[in-house]
Amino acid sequence: MSRKLFITTALPYANGNFHIGHIMEYIQADIWVRFQRMQGNAVNFVGADDTHGAPIMIAAEKAGKTPQQFVADIAAGRQKYLDGFHISFDNWHSTDAPENHELARQIYCDLRDRADGSLIETRTIEQFFDPEKNMFLPDRYIKGECPKCHAKDQYGDNCEVCGSVYAPTDLINPYSALSGARPELKNSEHFFFKLSDPRCVEFLEKWTQDGKLQPEVANKIKEWFTVRTNPDGSTSEGLGDWDISRDAPYFGIEIPDAPGKYFYVWLDAPVGYLASLKNLLNKRAELDPQSPSYADYMVDPSLEQYHFIGKDIVTFHTLFWPAMLHFSGRKTPDNVFVHGFLTVNNGEKMSKSRGTGLDPLKYLSLGMNPE
Ligand SMILES: [Zn+2]
Repeated sequence: MSRKLFITTALPYANGNFHIGHIMEYIQADIWVRFQRMQGNAVNFVGADDTHGAPIMIAAEKAGKTPQQFVADIAAGRQKYLDGFHISFDNWHSTDAPENHELARQIYCDLRDRADGSLIETRTIEQFFDPEKNMFLPDRYIKGECPKCHAKDQYGDNCEVCGSVYAPTDLINPYSALSGARPELKNSEHFFFKLSDPRCVEFLEKWTQDGKLQPEVANKIKEWFTVRTNPDGSTSEGLGDWDISRDAPYFGIEIPDAPGKYFYVWLDAPVGYLASLKNLLNKRAELDPQSPSYADYMVDPSLEQYHFIGKDIVTFHTLFWPAMLHFSGRKTPDNVFVHGFLTVNNGEKMSKSRGTGLDPLKYLSLGMNPE
């Protein structure tokens, strides 16, 4: 009997064109997808642009565009890469599409309104605020002197000179990387997904350690259940709760019943897998009324769901994402396939500024064979 497979690659952040690492992942997944199709299995293989968050909002402002226009311009450049390398996606969508707004809000409400006790809670936290830009600053946009080695112009979360990890409040003479202003500490109410809840811990220990994941991935995850590193570099026991909200101004999806509060981009990004699939199935149903609806497709217990990702986003895909799905009453992934990075010069990351980047379109323009 033929298998029914729903397959995705990680959603690329829509602040730039594809680099060779994206194309490598798509080719890896595409080979597997083509193999499954040749076996007679029914595959839906989808991707989408990951569009929300502070970096895109800030890049759009610099480019003199709205965030919507900025991500639309990036999206317009995607097809020539996908066609050029013969990647056989059935659909390419966007996390800013209506399907994603609706699904993300619905999943959040299902987590919040659970009959056996809510998995969402609010807490007031203190955060740096840029008085000139009138916005709370993400850690990456706060700079200052490293409290350990006193190197200047270090980021708010770690020092690139001595490698220390700390909280932005530990920086000496902090300043906003956006305006140069001295940031002020201000209180704000944030929404948390209670990953430390015993229900989540029990579910995730089982889901991550039942043998489906690659052994090196499962072993790494095991460490997160025993000890975690806090923003200030200290350590605590067990899984921590996940801060899922950001304050306006933010390019994202507004949280239901919380005006001025938005989902942190990583809450709605993986929901984009489902949104792209839903968009595909809706388009098919318009052409052919016999084609299954999204609801009918997802409810089939024989459906298998697989995600191809890089090792940098394992936390999101093996803790947050399965927990979000399971506790909102949805199907969880059957597996997550994790790859490493392409590197040069003894393990260095490829980098455009160091001249070691590879532009996939350059490869094609030289007439090299994409197969
Ligand atoms: Zn340092």
